[in-house]
Parts: sequence; C-alpha cells; structure tokens
Amino acid sequence: KFMCIGLSTLMAAVNNGLSSWSCREESRQDYLKKRKQQKLDELRDELVDEEYLFGGQKLTAREEAEFRYKKKVHELATKGEKDVEDVEEYRIPEAYDTADRVAQDRRFAVASDRYRDPEHEEKANNFAEQEAWEKYQIGKATLKFGAADKKNSDDYEYVFEDQIEFIQASIMPGSKVHYFSTHKAAVAMFLDEMQEDRKTLPIFPYRERLLDAITKHQVLVIEGETGSGKTTQIPQYLHEAGYSKVGKIGCTQPRRVAAMSVAARVAQEMGVKLGHEVGYSIRFEDCTSDTTIIKYMTDGMLLREFLSEPDLASYSVMMVDEAHERTLSTDILFGLVKDITRFRPEIKLLISSATLDAGKFSDYFDGAPIFRIPGRRFPVDILYTKAPEADYLEAATVTVLQIHVTQPPGDILVFFTGQEEIEAAEEILKHRTRGLGSKIAEMIICPIYANLPSDMQAKIFEETPEGARKVVLATNIAETSLTIDGIKYVIDPGFCKQKSYSPRTGMESLIITPVSKAAAQQRAGRAGRTSAGKCFRLYTAWSFQNEMDDNTVPEIQRTNLGNVVLMLKSLGINDLINFDFMDPPPAETLLRALEQLYALGALNDRGELTKLGRRMAEFPLDPMLSKMLVASDKYLCSEEIVTICAMLSVGNSIFYRPKDKQVHADNARMNFHAGNVGDHLALLKVYDQWKETNFSTQWCYENYIQVRSMKRARDIRDQLEGLLERVEIEPTSNPSDLESIKKAITSGYFYHTAKLQKNGSYRTIKNPQTVSIHPSSGLSQVLPRWVVYHELVLTTKEYMRQVIEIKPDWLVEIAPHYYKLKD
Ligand code: ADP
Ligand code: MG
Repeated sequence: KFMCIGLSTLMAAVNNGLSSWSCREESRQDYLKKRKQQKLDELRDELVDEEYLFGGQKLTAREEAEFRYKKKVHELATKGEKDVEDVEEYRIPEAYDTADRVAQDRRFAVASDRYRDPEHEEKANNFAEQEAWEKYQIGKATLKFGAADKKNSDDYEYVFEDQIEFIQASIMPGSKVHYFSTHKAAVAMFLDEMQEDRKTLPIFPYRERLLDAITKHQVLVIEGETGSGKTTQIPQYLHEAGYSKVGKIGCTQPRRVAAMSVAARVAQEMGVKLGHEVGYSIRFEDCTSDTTIIKYMTDGMLLREFLSEPDLASYSVMMVDEAHERTLSTDILFGLVKDITRFRPEIKLLISSATLDAGKFSDYFDGAPIFRIPGRRFPVDILYTKAPEADYLEAATVTVLQIHVTQPPGDILVFFTGQEEIEAAEEILKHRTRGLGSKIAEMIICPIYANLPSDMQAKIFEETPEGARKVVLATNIAETSLTIDGIKYVIDPGFCKQKSYSPRTGMESLIITPVSKAAAQQRAGRAGRTSAGKCFRLYTAWSFQNEMDDNTVPEIQRTNLGNVVLMLKSLGINDLINFDFMDPPPAETLLRALEQLYALGALNDRGELTKLGRRMAEFPLDPMLSKMLVASDKYLCSEEIVTICAMLSVGNSIFYRPKDKQVHADNARMNFHAGNVGDHLALLKVYDQWKETNFSTQWCYENYIQVRSMKRARDIRDQLEGLLERVEIEPTSNPSDLESIKKAITSGYFYHTAKLQKNGSYRTIKNPQTVSIHPSSGLSQVLPRWVVYHELVLTTKEYMRQVIEIKPDWLVEIAPHYYKLKD
C-alpha cells in the first residue's frame, strides 16, 4: 500500500460523510469521482504530515526523492493531468532513480548551487518562476553590495510586522593586529587547498615555538581564541613531529558532537578515512581502529579508559581540550592525569582552553607554563534590548528575520538551550517565511545539538551559497567547541540548560538558567571571527551588569556525584575527601553519593566496592540505571530492561508532536499507554512494536515516533547487550510479567519514590518535596498512589518525567536497608 491513511484523513472522511456505506445511494460515477478526490486529499495530508515529520530532520536521498515525487503526483493529479491512482505503478523506479541521482549529485557537485537544491531545476523550467528568480537574484546583489541597503530594508518592512528595538551599548574591541584572512570557510575539495588553509590559521605561525615548548615541558597550558586552530591543528603538529611513533595522541572534548565533527575534519585534512588514522570515541560509539594514532574522545570516555588502562600507557600525548568548560569529567580527569605525569615522565600533557582561566590551570598543574596564541578577532558591536523580552524564543526568531531583511550579508548564529527549542525555532522560521518566495533572500536553517545525527552536522560547515544566508541554531556547543566560519551576527537570548543538584534533597534537575558574563562574552566573540560583527543580546544592559554571574559554576559543584564516585572507587581511589580536585565538590555532595551507592548495594558499609558495584561500573550509565540492569538478572527480564534502558538513554525525543497535529500525535502516543502500564513499559511497547515491523520507518511516521531516536535506541541497545554479556547476565525475557519488570526498575530507582497527596500532587518519600507527574506522562491523569520516577525536571514546577506505578511493599522487599515498615 502506498501509505497508510493518517488519522486526520479518516476523521475528515467521516466528517464529510464519505464512509463507504454512505456511498450506496450515489451513482458509481460520483462515487469514483469522490474517491479520487479523497485519495488526492489523503495524498495532500500525507505531504503536509511528512513536511512536519521531516521538519528538522535531514532526509536520505531516497526519502527526499519519494517526497518530491509524491508532491509532483499531487500537483499533476490536481490539474487533472494524471490519475492519482496511477501513483503506484510508476512511482518506485522513477523515484529511486532520482534518489540515486540526487545522491550522486551531492557527492560530486558540492559547490554547485543548482544541485544543492534540485528544486531550482524545476523552477528553471517554469518561465514565471524564472522571472521571479532573476528579480530575486538582482535583489540579493544589491543587498550584498550594500548599494540599496536602505531602500531594500524599506521594501522588506511589510514582510514581517514584528520588530524588536535594540540599542547599542558597547563595542567588544577586536585585537590590535588584524590579519588579512585568506582562510576559506568552505569544505575544501582538494587536499592541497586544505593544506594551504591550515597555514592561514592563527596558530600556524607559532607551530615551531609550540612544539619547542612541548619538548621542554611535560605539562603545558595552551590558551587561544576560539577558532585559532588548537583542536584541529595541535594533534596534527604532534603527529608530524613524530609523537605518534611512540604512542597515540589523545584529545578530549566535553561534547560528543565536537569530538565527532573535529575528528571528521582532521581526517579530511590528513586525507585519511575517519576511523583509521584519525578516529573518535564517544559513549555508545567507537569509531577507531588499530591504526588510529590521533584519537578524539569525550572526556567521559577517557575517564572510562582509565578503567582498562590506568596509566594511559598507549598514549604519548594527552590533550585535555576546552578545559575552561570545567565539566565534571574534565575536572576528574585533571586529578587523574596530573597523577600520571608523576610516574610517566615521558608522557606529554596539554591543557588547552579558550581565553579564560589559564592562570588557574597553571597553578593547579604546579605552575606549568602558559602558551598564548594571539587570536584574530574583529570588533563586535554589542546591542541590548531596551526592555526585557518575555519570550526569548519568539524574540530570537523575530530578530533572525529582522537581521535577514535589514542587514548586509553574513551568517547568523543563535544560541538556544536545547533540542526542543531549536526544533521549535526552526518550525517558526520555516512557517513565517513560507510562501514569501522571492520576497526575501534564501535562508538556510542549520540546527546543531548533541543528538543531531552526524550526517546532518556537516551541514553547518558547508559554505553558504552566494546571496543566501545561513542561520545556525545551536546549543552552547557553538560557544567554544565548534567554530563556524562566516558568522557575522550572533543572537544571544542569554540562557542555557544547566544541571542543578541539591545535596539536601539528593535531587538533580535540569533547569534553564541565565548564562554567565564570561559565557556571554564568548558567545559575542563568535560574531567577530572573520570580520567585524554584531551581537544582539535579548536582554537589557542592566541585567547583564546586575543579574548575571561572572563565571559559570563548575559542574562538579552542582551535580550528583554517584557516577564519578563509583568510577573512582573502581579505579581503587578510596580516599575521595583528599582527592586532588581543582575545586572540590561540597562535602555534603560527596557523602550523598557514597550513601546512594551504599543504598544501591554498590558499596559495603566500609565504603568498599562490592561485587555488584564492580558489575555496575561496567556500564557507561548512571548508577541507578546500571543497578536496574544488573537487577534484571534476578527478575528474569534482562531483555525488557535493556530495551527500557536504551529508550531512556535516548532522552525525550521519541515521540513527535507537530504543532497542528497535537491531538493525533497524542492519540497515537496514548495507544502505547493502554492499560496505564506506565511510561517505562510504554517505551518498551514502542520499541517492541517497531521491532515487530522489522524496524519500519513507515511505522514510525504513522505513530508519530521519531525514527532517528529509535535507531539510536537500537544502537545503544546493541551495545548494552554486549556489556551484559561481559558481566555474565543471561538474556532472559518474560514480556507478560509486568510486575517483575517494574520490580527490576524499582531496584534501581527506589530512591525516586513519591506518594500521592490528597490535593493531587505528590510528595517524595525520603526527602519530602512536592512534585507532580509531567503532563507528557501516560499516568498524568491516572494519578496512582505510589510511583517511581526516572527524573525530575523543573519547568513551571517540579515535574517527574517517566513514571510507573508500584506497590509500597515492594520497597521493603527490594531495599530493606532503605525502607522499613512503620510499626
Ligand atoms: P580552536 O580549537 O582553536 O577553537 P579549531 O581547531 O576547532 O579551533 O578550528 C580551526 C579552524 O578549523 C576553524 O576556522 C574552523 O572553521 C575549521 N574547522 C574546524 N572543524 C571544522 C569542520 N568540521 N569543518 C570545516 N571546518 C572546520
Ligand atoms: Mg577547540
């Protein structure tokens, strides 16, 4: 069948009285005609659906071709030139032909505008369109050369009514020396061109001096402006200087996306295949091989490597990059690598950071010298809003459009707090510009966030075609981790998502908080990399001065340390109070972590690792999830639990809820919640049904499920299964025994128990706090008496996300040392 009937179509059919029985009274002719119209409507609905489903996702060439094809059929059928029922016959071969051709074009014609958007081909055939297109080109040209700047912006004014008024308050000075940039932002097609590019980076003139300093000193702190070439160049310099003959060159990154993208770039520069000489390793994905000599990895992955190689014997150099980010893992790594330099005098240690805090790193590493790379930086105008903005998402999209129609060429970078916001912004931008056609210049929207599929990440680095403008919607990954050339305008709403932890209640939640002044300056700096730029801050100058902290608090001081303590314990580091922390965590937080691990059974009452703890440490997961996995052995449901773990690890991007189809999406979602099984089991059902359809993409579309998240869950599941084997847990399954599955979950999460109150809210058991079930939960209307939750999120209030119902006596049975019955 071509495609299943969407719910919306069914509803429409019923409303229109087109259900089959009502056709009896009609003539056969009328009936057929109506059916055709109905099919046509279905097709249109599908197209609308898919446009939404595909929003924010990059299509494979095949998906794209199919989609285009259906569009074409719809168009022809509407005009009566083709029968909509013929679709099936000629659809497949032609669509796939196009798919293959598009794929080929993509590969060979990187720079050709025409192939970038095959729609241009269609346009070219249409004379009226052609004319519009030419006008548009002329418009772009004048805009570009600034000749008719004013005039253009007047013309455009009516396009968008919303405007935000900004006032300029300051200029962030550029560096005194302005280099003449010859560096091209494009992904260069030829290696020698790329080698030339390498020489234009600010770090290049310092190559010899840097290598010299590394020879002389075991530990070196390197400080340089974002984009100067630290991450991509230094490991290559070290390789060229022969360090790779003695051992691997390692380089850590706080973020997965950065590790992947930088590795890909360096592999390209060196002309090798990614995963061979140059590779990367991130959680659930190891893209390295025996031949790998330059290895990028997340800081968390290097921590895990310590478990199997406590002296990092296979490395000759370790570069702890983006040290200023001060992630939890980086902070722990500091202590571990510092220790290694004491007994491995030949290993080289580089600590590199953006222009922040270098002195502090030097102090910590016993006065290691600081190597400063003077960056190139152009002045950036800083503009603030006149009044605070109530809705920064809205304000940000308005500002994007405002810049797009009034400002000279140059790409835009907007900082958001996470994937959900980015997707929403993308949708808004697409919606607002839909139908404007040639009234405005082309806008290329590029999202970038941690969970973005890697094939889509490359898009942000592609050169912007003449006359178009790129709009990068990013999380704070673009603050320092990734350098995107060509950015001239930065929009900074002034927020980021931050973990926050209360050792008193033992609760961790993700909250959206104002960024620090230091982070705001980094963000602004992104606008001045290749020429003078502008930074639009969506907050007032007053709040910058008075409401924002100077620096971000290091993660170690605002997170649950359960994971890290388990890791350090398995490395044999027992005396945590005296561990060499750069900024020690609050003692209370450490104690909390020990207490939690004890409650989970990972530590004994002397604080030593138990056999259970050792098994738990094998999993790159939160201790509670690891415990749940290990416990599944006892409850004979490891197959189910490993699926649930994988689905939870993907985060909250399984269900898709397009704006205008929320009812349908919610209905589809509620199907998985039949019987009020709870969110964990609903996730299990989603995965199992997907598996039953042989991992069908179609099935995902029909059920409003994000296919990419599902694929990721499958990957994670495969890996976890491998790890289960390592700790000798047999695959066991009993899908109908829901109680056992819930008990296994409770074994890990008995900490997260809450009881219903008379007023309909919940109270957590151990450290009483009022919470509610998240509206997205299948149990949000059911309100069971006792629940176990996966996590807390703080939005308008404290919500429990992913919830199951439990029986209170399980608590006593499962965690007797933690819960006792009151007499
Ligand atoms: P730093 O680490 O000092 O911030 P990088 O080494 O990350 O600097 O970047 C140096 C240059 O390499 C930048 O100009 C950036 O545009 C370019 N670059 C880095 N990664 C990529 C990539 N994946 N694709 C294209 N260019 C890249
Ligand atoms: Mg870098």
